[in-house]
Amino acid sequence: MNLLTFNDRFPDEVACRAYLRDKREAEGITCKNCRGTKHYWIESKSKWRCASCLSTTNLRAGTIMEKSKLSVKTWFMAIHLITSTKKSFSALEMQRQLGLKRYEPVWYMMQKIRLAMGKRDAKYTLQGNIEIDDAYFEIVDLPELDELGNKKTSGRVVNTDGKEDDEQKRGRGTNKKQKVLVMVESNPNTDPLNKHKKKRSMGFVKMIIMDNFRNDTINYEVSKAVQQKTNIISDAMLGFNKLANVGMNHTAMIVPKKEAGKTLPWVHTVIANAKRLFLGIHHSIGKEYLQNYLNEYCYKLNRRNFQADLFDRMIVAGINDTWY
Ligand SMILES: [Zn+2]
Repeated sequence: MNLLTFNDRFPDEVACRAYLRDKREAEGITCKNCRGTKHYWIESKSKWRCASCLSTTNLRAGTIMEKSKLSVKTWFMAIHLITSTKKSFSALEMQRQLGLKRYEPVWYMMQKIRLAMGKRDAKYTLQGNIEIDDAYFEIVDLPELDELGNKKTSGRVVNTDGKEDDEQKRGRGTNKKQKVLVMVESNPNTDPLNKHKKKRSMGFVKMIIMDNFRNDTINYEVSKAVQQKTNIISDAMLGFNKLANVGMNHTAMIVPKKEAGKTLPWVHTVIANAKRLFLGIHHSIGKEYLQNYLNEYCYKLNRRNFQADLFDRMIVAGINDTWY
């Protein structure tokens, strides 16, 4: 959908609200009070009434738009901009594009959209053949501020060597690396028209922030994200060497750096592209939000062949009742 089509479909708030109502009714509304699923629309109140217990549900209740003061049209425009671009938007750029006065609601809206993207992708499990790898993403410990916007001394971050970082002293926070587990479906390329391209084709991708790369932590995440008996290829990192314990067919290979692109081609491409993208757009990402940015990156990558209806898919992902 391009900008012209978007404007034709959603000229005003009334059109956006009508679309939201249709989509929610198609997906099914569940009553927060009694879990009933039969509802009637009350036009005068712009609400649904539950047929069983008579309690009402607002148009935006239970969706990513609940409690937001921004219009439905603003949300739709933001979702359109995020899903129609291959790369991404900083909150500042989004604020400019939407012509809004305040930065915080825009930033918050974008985080909510990314959270919904992650929830959606968490429903899928990987299968077939998988490349797995450990990655390290740059993050920033943003200094804690008091109500007056001054740095709290208790919020100081001290490096492992016990010294305060120079950057920190200048009040910009400390750069650190966050561990991320990356899994990519990578199957032999059987498309005869694709012979000149890579020998393997990329499927679904997952990226998960990790506290550590210990065997039990990795096994826990892999068993949640991957179907049993999947073939997993990795390098020889020790954290991967107990994957057979959770039912995986694991092959560890000693990979010289030069060979990494051949042995684990897709996982390395995915990691390198994500790093380049984040560096160019988001500059400094706080630890607690890195997963959201990874969510957006994976969500769009996983739907790279559905560009035309990405907007509608994202609306559906964002309107699932959040109370169950
Ligand atoms: Zn009810």
